[in-house]
Amino acid sequence: MKKTAFITGITSQDGAYLAHLLLNKDYTVVGGFRGLSNPVFSRLDELGITNKIRLVEIDLLDSGNLTTIIKEVKPTEVYNLAAQSFVSHSFRNPVLTGNVTGIGVTNLLEAVRMTDKGIRFYQASTSELFGKTQQFPQNEETPFYPCSPYAVAKLYGYWMTINYRESYNIFASTGILFNHESPLRGIEFVTRKITDAVARIHSGKLDSFDIGNLDVKRDWGYAKEYVEGMWKMLQTDKPDAYVIATNEAHSVREWIETCFNIIGTTIIWEGSGVNETGRDEKTGQVRVKVNPDFFRPAEFNLTIGDYSKARRELGWEPETKFAKLIEIMMRADLKRNE
Ligand code: NDP
Ligand code: GDP
Repeated sequence: MKKTAFITGITSQDGAYLAHLLLNKDYTVVGGFRGLSNPVFSRLDELGITNKIRLVEIDLLDSGNLTTIIKEVKPTEVYNLAAQSFVSHSFRNPVLTGNVTGIGVTNLLEAVRMTDKGIRFYQASTSELFGKTQQFPQNEETPFYPCSPYAVAKLYGYWMTINYRESYNIFASTGILFNHESPLRGIEFVTRKITDAVARIHSGKLDSFDIGNLDVKRDWGYAKEYVEGMWKMLQTDKPDAYVIATNEAHSVREWIETCFNIIGTTIIWEGSGVNETGRDEKTGQVRVKVNPDFFRPAEFNLTIGDYSKARRELGWEPETKFAKLIEIMMRADLKRNE
């Protein structure tokens, strides 16, 4: 029988790639979007799938609305991708983030529990759960030390997912996904902010851009491959938690240097701390400036994930790593700015 997937956060980067993957697997895909006056489906448009998805208005803050939708859609699988997902924003809006990213998970789990306990449930957890923990690389057994309102809200969602599995025997799994990027990544996140800015510098539309902490290292993978991990987690015999990562860490500084290399520019760093700048080696023009406005109230220097459980139990492995990922994203942003 044809399966039906209900995806919350269908307008997100991951929502678009997951919907694309599931349509190719012959699922009926129903996507929940926020009932704003002007919802943006540009990511679905870019993948050419907007018309293949049934779009329904939802809000994770409204449990009644979620229950009505789940009862009507009768999904086989529910993927909860919706969240207030930007860490910086979570420091400025901690209560909203707690409500959407944390309590929102319970609203959806309740809707599943009250409708059909046979529905398989995926919760989008994050490497931000590990935060300041000093164990590397991080796996499913690593202790959590979340250090932003976003990460604390996600930790609540993580445990509620496990609680609904243990209390009600719901097939509820969660992926602890490390940062994953793509040409569809939101412009507020550091990787896409940089590929977009470097492409605009290349086309003469921008002189320079500001940046925060240059030396944090992150484990960055390709979103298109990470959604395959989500799907695989709901096809197993028993629900569980899995780390999805590349097991490589690189700094924001390296990301910037590699992007500029693609347009034939070498960046030379000068100064230190808040006075550090990056100049074009040939022309001497300042292209990057450190701006403390982009520093975070709490920060951690490194994430690196050990995905061996996902490889062993799901047969999942990343193919696209740092340099290749940057090439894909730069190519897309250069094209957008031609
Ligand atoms: P995005 O930031 O691109 O999108 C977030 C989505 O949540 C949007 O579709 C947004 O809708 C929706 N949303 C926000 N508030 C609500 C609400 N109250 N009710 C319903 N929907 C809402 O997400 P990503 O694709 O980057 O990530 C997908 C999920 O994975 C998120 O939960 C994120 O926290 C998590 N994650 C992401 C990682 C990454 O590196 N990308 C790493 C680990 C976890 P709208 O368009 O209306 O704003
Ligand atoms: P996050 O890991 O979900 O917070 O993803 P981001 O892409 O927003 O941030 C990744 C890392 O890059 C964090 O440690 C940020 O502090 C760091 N960073 C440095 N400069 C910037 C910047 O200008 N914007 C953003 N978003 N992050 C930055």
